[in-house]
This record gives sequence, C-alpha cells and structure tokens, in this order.
Amino acid sequence: MTPDVRDRTDRPANLGRLPGEGCPIPDSSWDRALRLIGQADEVALACHVNPDGDALGSMLAVAFVLRSMGKRVVASFGDRIFAVPRLLGFLPGQEMLVPPEEYPAAPDLMIVFDCSTFERVGLLGANAASAREVIVVDHHPSNTGFGTLDLIDADAAATAMLAEQLVYRLGGRLDRDIATCLYAGLVTDTGSFRYSSTTPAVHQMAARLVATGLRTDEIARELWDRSPFGYLKVLANALERVTLEGRLVWTYVSRVDRAAYGLPYSELEGIIDIVRRADEAEVAVVLKEDDHGDWQVSTRSKGTIDVAAVCAALGGGGHHNAAGYTSYETVEETMAKFRRELRRVS
Ligand code: AMP
Ligand code: MN
Ligand code: MN
Repeated sequence: MTPDVRDRTDRPANLGRLPGEGCPIPDSSWDRALRLIGQADEVALACHVNPDGDALGSMLAVAFVLRSMGKRVVASFGDRIFAVPRLLGFLPGQEMLVPPEEYPAAPDLMIVFDCSTFERVGLLGANAASAREVIVVDHHPSNTGFGTLDLIDADAAATAMLAEQLVYRLGGRLDRDIATCLYAGLVTDTGSFRYSSTTPAVHQMAARLVATGLRTDEIARELWDRSPFGYLKVLANALERVTLEGRLVWTYVSRVDRAAYGLPYSELEGIIDIVRRADEAEVAVVLKEDDHGDWQVSTRSKGTIDVAAVCAALGGGGHHNAAGYTSYETVEETMAKFRRELRRVS
C-alpha cells in the first residue's frame, strides 16, 4: 500500500501553505487596512497605467469583495486614453470601471494596485495626492512606499497574491469571478508559471483559484493565443528588423507600423516574449510607440543582468528580469542611452 503523503517524513514543509503564509507584511498593517476600509462608505481603487493582468485583475478582485460588503466602489487607471486592453476584455467586473474624469477628486480612501512608483498612477496621481488615505498594494522590490499605508511584499510573484490575502481578510468568498481576476494576475506575472518567482505558494494559490471552477484553458487562450490578423504583419515587421548586438537583442514597433493594420498599442505586449527567445542574448528590448508618440520600452533579462537597475536609471523600474520605462526620444537616442546604462550595470 502506498503511504499517505501526509505521513511521509520527507513531506515538504510548505505543502498546504495558507494564503499569505510567510508574507512579511505585519498583521498590524493588514488590520489598519481593514479598519480604514471598514470606516469608508466609498472606496476608490486604481491600478497602474497601461494595465496588465496583474494590475487590473488585482483591482477588480478587490472591487468585487468591497461591493459585496455594501461599499460604493469606483475603479480606474490614469491613462489619457482610457481603454481596457482587448486582451483583458474577458475579465469580469468591468462595469465597476470609470474613466479618470469621473473619479472622485479627493477620495476618503484610495487603494492603489501594482504601482511601483507614484508616477505609475498616471492621471489619477492628482486624486491620490488629495486622498485622505492611500493604501499601496504592491510587489515591486523598488517600491519605497508612497501610501499612507503600504502593503508591499517584494517576494510575492504578483500583486494578485496580496489581493487574494485582502479578499480573505475582508471575509470575502473566493467565487469564480474573483478567482478569474486573481488568476489573470498570477498567470501573467509568472509568465504562465515559468519564471523563477513561481514558488509552491504560487501553485497553491493557483489550486485554490482553479478549484472555483474557472476555465484556465479559456483564460490562456484569451491572454496568449489570439490576436487580430494585423498582429502577424506588425510582428513580421518587428522581426524583420530585429538586431543582435553582442548579448543584446532588440527591435521596435512604431505607431506607423500599427496604423497600417489598425492595431491597438496594447496588442504589442507579447512581442518581447518572442524577441527574448534569441539564445545568444542576455538582454532583450522592444521599443513600442504608443498613441501619444512616446516610446514604451520593455526589457527582459535572463538572469545575471538586473534590467530593473538599467530602467530605473532611465526613469522607469520593474523587476530584476522584467522592467520598463518611457522614452521621449527617437529610437536611436533611446537605444544609445540604453546601451550606455546597460554597460554600466553589466
Ligand atoms: P512590460 O515590459 O510592459 O511587461 O513591463 C515589465 C515590468 O516593467 C512591469 O511589470 C513594470 O514593473 C515595469 N515597467 C514597465 N513600464 C514601466 C514604466 N514606464 N515605469 C516604471 N516601470 C515600468
Ligand atoms: Mn503590472
Ligand atoms: Mn505585478
């Protein structure tokens, strides 16, 4: 007879880890968050500009719970052109989103998700500056804490892990809508459970989410397996001019490239994952021109080089292996500065 795994002496200590176990955020901080939320009639939620699955998913998951507690909830992100990326169109709860101009000017309580810096709050920065209390929920190591209360865990693979804790601590039940939002955050920030941030706690959280009956196959398809036809053409252009310079591989996509196929900016997110495949390269860069003519720079490292340090020096930030910044210069100037900073850190 096979012995029960629970009786084995070599059972990993972290089997069956509870949500938030090992989280460095003290209970006193969580308790203060619960008090602030308890006292508020209206809670204003925000996530970073150009939201990804983690930003929007974490925010919407918490929005669901707050709404079920009878709170008035507004949720938004501070982009000048307010639109949910098509890729994230499947996330439930979008009826709770309002454009920045309809956001309370001076909320009593604002909760900000997945923002490493105040700048990442974008247009809603003015609202945050006027808010009575701002709770920052984030997992970026570079986050120095710009809230009146900071719930930051730099070891968490995604802000969604902290959002899940908040859901539990608020007494919320993990239903399929909430789980879908949290799963979108977890699966995007771990690169489908491939990055080194994918700990046992990540898989255990995934198990709790999947147990609600969510369709991981449908979510994966929405996030990674579909695009408008024009994406293929834009990708072809980007790959046509991809350049390998020593240990750096890079390319760019301009507004003009996209306009030819009516392709929205948010469709470009996956290109970096193709470019970084080049075995010869340690660092991959994709410059993406947004609708304002600014360049959003996506960078990835395979391990030794800290791209967050490079990007921080250029006005952005992120994680050791995945970081970014905004450049207001030409492609050539942007790359010249990037190479200089890269040489400095490597
Ligand atoms: P992306 O390449 O857009 O997937 O971004 C990778 C990571 O870099 C994100 O998770 C953010 O932490 C960070 N990041 C991207 N763009 C910026 C920016 N403009 N400013 C600060 N951090 C950024
Ligand atoms: Mn993010
Ligand atoms: Mn994140």
